[in-house]
Amino acid sequence: MNDEIGILIRRLQRAHKARKEAESLLEEKSLELYKANKVLEEKEEFSRAILDAVSNGIISLGSSGEILSSNFAACRMFGYDEEAMLKLDFSSLISNHGLSPASFIKFRVEKGFDNPNNAQAKRKDRSTFPVEITISELDVAEERYIALIRDVSEREHAEQAIHKLANYDKLTGLPNMDLFRIRIVPQLAYARRNKQRGAMLAIDINRFSDINESFGRNAGDTLLKEISTRLKDCVRNYDSISVLPKQGRDNNGEIARLGGDEFLIFVSDITAINDAARVSTRLLERLRQPYEIEGLETVLTASVGIAIYPDDGKNFEDLLRNASTTKNYSKKLGPDHFSFYDSSMNDAALQRLTLENELRNAVEREEFLVYFQPKADINSQKIVAAEALVRWQHPERGILSPGLFIEEAEKIGLLGPISEWVLEQTCRQIATWINQGLPSIVVSVNLSNQQFHDGDLPERVELLIKSYDIPPSALELELTETIVMENADQAIEQVNQLKQLGITLSIDDFGTGYSSLSYLRRLKVDKLKIDQSFVRHVPGGKEEVGIVESIISLGKNFGMELIAEGVETKEQFDFLREAGCDQAQGYLISKPTPANEMVWEFTS
Ligand code: C2E
Ligand code: CA
Ligand code: CA
Repeated sequence: MNDEIGILIRRLQRAHKARKEAESLLEEKSLELYKANKVLEEKEEFSRAILDAVSNGIISLGSSGEILSSNFAACRMFGYDEEAMLKLDFSSLISNHGLSPASFIKFRVEKGFDNPNNAQAKRKDRSTFPVEITISELDVAEERYIALIRDVSEREHAEQAIHKLANYDKLTGLPNMDLFRIRIVPQLAYARRNKQRGAMLAIDINRFSDINESFGRNAGDTLLKEISTRLKDCVRNYDSISVLPKQGRDNNGEIARLGGDEFLIFVSDITAINDAARVSTRLLERLRQPYEIEGLETVLTASVGIAIYPDDGKNFEDLLRNASTTKNYSKKLGPDHFSFYDSSMNDAALQRLTLENELRNAVEREEFLVYFQPKADINSQKIVAAEALVRWQHPERGILSPGLFIEEAEKIGLLGPISEWVLEQTCRQIATWINQGLPSIVVSVNLSNQQFHDGDLPERVELLIKSYDIPPSALELELTETIVMENADQAIEQVNQLKQLGITLSIDDFGTGYSSLSYLRRLKVDKLKIDQSFVRHVPGGKEEVGIVESIISLGKNFGMELIAEGVETKEQFDFLREAGCDQAQGYLISKPTPANEMVWEFTS
């Protein structure tokens, strides 16, 4: 805007000067608007149009500040009609800080052209508003001035608002509520677009007022600072200690202090409701660690209420309100509790958390077992291979299938260690079977994402083969499409290294993920396992028959062996043999069993 004004003023000045030098030139340039001294008073249509089109007030003034003309914007700004305006002088519009109109003008002029000057302006109704004034000389000899007046009240309001919003909590340095809102609202929009969830956590420190009362405000303040530091620890990079790369994701959090002992945390991009429960547990745990006040140890507890976006609120205000009511509910449950707004989530979250804790213990206590499921050669019907499948011997619930715990284990970074344990047990078992003189078979182990991406898998496998003294050909690793596709180049490299050890590699659940054919060609795996979701529907399902047949021809083309998973019936077995599949695995042959119950024979 200032530029616009400056340009206008320069044009007016040039026009005026030019008139004196050459009237004809002036006319030609249409700057004739201002020809002659009375140019502004004459209100020529053209000049009016220009002046009125500007949203800033433009007033021409005489030597003692009398108003000679005014554009429409100036009239509107001050609340006068034009006629009334012309009866006024400049000092009735502007509080001039004690300067006479002339000296005011002079003063401004001296300060220089284009120099914005702040002043208070008065409307007809006597209300005042902030303006920025630029006064320039139009004609020095005749003492004509032109004043450009800009209403800056809106900008001032905005600046004040921004100032307030940008305020952080002085004590803890955490954002205040306004800043918090400014940060969260776009995150909610982002989450909506990307169909993500977020969690709003309202946190309240229990019995904080007791601290203030017994130790004084200073101690209370120190404690609040310590609390906010701990909260910050909990949402940023907490999981950098975890080995799972994805783990850090649920910890992008924003924190705010609402004043007093209340805090807010918004955790973005949570993948499951339980992520919010995990963050809350972490917070409570961290806040529960003893604090030292004046040499004394004190323990504090907190209460947390969780509202999930978008389930429990589609906007900031709703989330906040619901998190906050839930927090009050948590408080009633006693210290150190968190709860979800949607109470049905509480049970689910509790179950999951219990499961996670039990899993951690299970790893420490080695509560796992390895079952084996044989694979038969489809033509010779001999058992030629087996797959190692993990089981959890739960102290109360008995033997659990991976479906009940594997997803959770992966989420908390335990699938890697568990699978690594299975790998070692399998090597041990292979050695035992060899020593018992049983037929030599290839035993496959499922690899976890974590193991595959750790980087030193080939070295570890080599070490295991050597320490258990087993032939590398007796070991097979099953990879899923997702595992290999996640980092395609690294995968090719690793697969090559593993191949060099002499072990076999297969792609599990083939057909359920996405694999690019060109990539598959470069990946030197030996076998494809046709996923059971297809096998289940053959030979009846037309589509599945087509899929199974094309996977088989694809595999053959690439020189790979084909294994069908989940073969339960004789019909499936016969169809697969006809289709050219090499091996079958499934309940028809045997369910997975403990090693000593392994089935070594099969007749269909
Ligand atoms: P998967 O690798 O696809 O294993 C085959 C699953 O199908 C096994 O389930 C097996 O018990 C089941 N199955 C075998 N034959 C049949 C059949 O004829 N009909 C039906 N309906 N199912 C059959 P399980 O043992 O529950 O394992 C489930 C998944 O857990 C496995 O799927 C694998 O992805 C994972 N898993 C198991 N053990 C490990 C392990 O040690 N490490 C890793 N990373 N994952 C494992
Ligand atoms: Ca498998
Ligand atoms: Ca499979």
